[in-house]
Amino acid sequence: MSKFISDFIESLKNYGRTPQIFAWLTVLILLTALFVINAFFLPLLLLILTAIILLGTIFLVMQSQIKLARLSVESSFKIKELNVLIDDLKDGVLVYDNNFKVISFNRTAENIFGLKAADLLGKNLEPKLIKEPRLKTLIQAVFPSLAPTVAQLSEGEWPEVVDISLEDPSLKLRTTLNRIADDRGKTVGFLKVFHDQTREENILQSKSEFIAIAAHQLRTPLTAIHWAFENLNQTETKPEAKETINEGLKLAERSLKIVNDLLDAAKIEEGRFGYHFEEMDLGEFVKQILEQLKSVAEEYHIKLYFSSEKNYKVRIDAEKLNIALSNLIDNAIKYNTKNGNVTVSLTELRDKPGVRIGVEDTGVGIPPEELKKLFMKFYRGTNITQIEPNGSGLGLYITKNIIEQHGGEIGVESILGRGSTFWFTLPLNQSATALNE
Ligand code: ADP
Repeated sequence: MSKFISDFIESLKNYGRTPQIFAWLTVLILLTALFVINAFFLPLLLLILTAIILLGTIFLVMQSQIKLARLSVESSFKIKELNVLIDDLKDGVLVYDNNFKVISFNRTAENIFGLKAADLLGKNLEPKLIKEPRLKTLIQAVFPSLAPTVAQLSEGEWPEVVDISLEDPSLKLRTTLNRIADDRGKTVGFLKVFHDQTREENILQSKSEFIAIAAHQLRTPLTAIHWAFENLNQTETKPEAKETINEGLKLAERSLKIVNDLLDAAKIEEGRFGYHFEEMDLGEFVKQILEQLKSVAEEYHIKLYFSSEKNYKVRIDAEKLNIALSNLIDNAIKYNTKNGNVTVSLTELRDKPGVRIGVEDTGVGIPPEELKKLFMKFYRGTNITQIEPNGSGLGLYITKNIIEQHGGEIGVESILGRGSTFWFTLPLNQSATALNE
């Protein structure tokens, strides 16, 4: 009984103002009134029985109403908490139902689109609203097909990630669309997050421009230094001086490579890396590159091998593909072990008309968790920075870009401590495939 009373007092204290407790108090008053009326008409035994039933009923109703009141107070608190959280997010958030009726529009979204939530809530968004100047950017962000520039980043799965660029005002947004499902998995609405990357992209662009200008300025004096060392190398005969000159020449070559990598990466980003394709014999092309790299291989005590099933004719930009393949072979030499091997092999693809160019080494290998990151700009493996401190981390990024521009794919397989095989494919025009067939 004391628990009953303490629960009663507690419930009044915490949830006294909720409709559930109000309903329970009404039931209490009605049942008490019923009991008082009964007291005039019923004999004592029946009256006691009625009192017990009524008390039981009051208790049960109280229990369930307190539970309901607690749930309702908690869920309304959670909703408020969620609203505060969504409002404080640095990304814009828009929630709408299956009919594109706006349910929620947070403060950041208000700032991005220059609109007020109060004007949008309950409004149905539809493509034709693009004609209303103040709604134009929001409509383009909700229906990306209406935006001037769109890049789909996800592939047919949730969440759907799309980068869009808008004009007037100039905005670069990454939009992430997720569906909201009910307990049975039925879609009841959508939540779209807008990440404003206008500032980040502008900073990135000025950074790239700065790097490109700096690299450009460095290239002229570096070329002169390289040329001076080359001259000295040919004229100087004293062995002590020759060693220093050779060291200088090597460093000048490496520095020039880094500067050229930086310039190529900048050109790729600006879309200025033009291509001129011509038909060539792939085997001859590879042999020429191996010849160019012979002196580097000797310096590192590496043997170079070449194997090919037959001759292949390919359409390539020889200058660009030279950069790509030289990068792969150069890496295979640099990241090898002393007296190691590098084998370049050409094999025909079985599943489609194409040729696979493999560059296999017996070197240090690559940690498995880093394999996916190698083709990213500026990435250098954790296991090689001590072996070869000089490097830009741009070679593979440039190589991948060149291979893809040739319609090929690039990949790598590696065993740490045993060696790596970098490979890429080039499409073959079937009618022009084999020269010696
Ligand atoms: P860099 O050689 O200037 O560091 P790259 O883009 O050419 O830049 O290579 C990126 C990274 O990939 C290297 O730093 C190295 O960690 C790894 N890598 C590339 N080729 C090999 C290889 N043949 N063996 C082991 N690691 C390699």
